[in-house]
Amino acid sequence: MPAKNKNEEIIDLTHKYVANTYGRFPITLVRGKGIKVWDRAGREYLDFVTGLAVNSLGHCHPSVVSAIQKQAGQLLHVSNLYHIEPQARLAQALTKVSFADKVFFCNSGTEANEGAIKLARRYSFDQGYKNRYEIITMENSFHGRTYGGLSATAQTKFHNGFQPLLPGFKYVPFNDIKAVEKAVTSKTCAVLLEPVQGEGGVYPANKNYLKALKKLCQQKDLLLIFDEVQTGFGRTGKLFAYEHYEVKPDIITWAKALGGGMAIGAMGGSKQVMKSLVPGTHAATFGGNPLACSAALASLQVLNRKGFLEKSCAVGNYFESKLKELAQSQNAVNSVRGTGLMLALELNVPATSLVTDCMKKGFLINCVQQNTLRFLPPLTVSKKDINGLLKVLKELLGKLPS
Ligand SMILES: *Cc1c(COP(=O)(O)O)cnc(C)c1O
Repeated sequence: MPAKNKNEEIIDLTHKYVANTYGRFPITLVRGKGIKVWDRAGREYLDFVTGLAVNSLGHCHPSVVSAIQKQAGQLLHVSNLYHIEPQARLAQALTKVSFADKVFFCNSGTEANEGAIKLARRYSFDQGYKNRYEIITMENSFHGRTYGGLSATAQTKFHNGFQPLLPGFKYVPFNDIKAVEKAVTSKTCAVLLEPVQGEGGVYPANKNYLKALKKLCQQKDLLLIFDEVQTGFGRTGKLFAYEHYEVKPDIITWAKALGGGMAIGAMGGSKQVMKSLVPGTHAATFGGNPLACSAALASLQVLNRKGFLEKSCAVGNYFESKLKELAQSQNAVNSVRGTGLMLALELNVPATSLVTDCMKKGFLINCVQQNTLRFLPPLTVSKKDINGLLKVLKELLGKLPS
């Protein structure tokens, strides 16, 4: 019997021993540098997935790697019973670049949203509203897989078999201010949404909608919470998506790209709102640990470099215009959506097979909602890399039956 190749061995081990929660492609990625990743067989891919908007500086950015190496030799973890220097410095850096005055650290996006949900209820309670707990969220949203985040997520496909959900969520159509107005009751404490819906298919909020939402929240004394877990840290062409809208939320949640590849989540808020978090109200053992915070600090310093975001924004505009050109020439394309380097191509046919076909040609891309190709390249992606992908997409789309 021929010896199994190493890749097959890893696939077998995964099937046998890892919970089957992901549909995986049959490759094992072992190394990355910039936009490139390599599988066990040494095949090279250009990565337009980036661990789902995590590796925004590309793989193994030298500043992030060296910060991790340095911190790893010094101190990996200590309890939040003590002060932690990289955590304090990261919090300061985050408040400097955002509306937030204070930050709570955790380890993932869903956990950041749990914090936001708890904070919204607690703040409302502290304001003297004794029976306010409802949070309005948007259809087609995605806020994570733990019970708070899952209950906030208004897509039934994620709920099936997991009921009862956390009570107190009301779902309304996205980009529909009238629907929010109608849903507000004396029990409402907050509105939670993604400024650009990611998993739902890359749908940006309208500017007038977010402005009206802010006004409504102010009038009714509700908290406005932006889930910027995916849109944060330059993904949409600005450091945070809310900057496009000139609308500041009261609470913001972050994760994905925050750590430059390390697992870290955070929730930021205004001074007024964050006053409700006092010792004993919320915690996370690993939250704000030295290693993750050092990586995030290094990553943020790169994003803050003069011209970095402007350049990535320009490349994003180029990518979008090229996708629009492609859409014009291809019958299979319904629409192009997105902003910055968070872009999508919606097809009028199932799009999943295109992901595999692109992979065979050396490009990693993602598909959401069955028919929508989502592109989340590193913010350092070049026009040449984009042109390479477009050439492959054009060829593959041209072969689709129309
Ligand atoms: C990915 C994502 C989450 C969940 O983040 P995890 O780190 O997987 O828990 C929450 N909200 C949005 C908008 C996301 O894109």
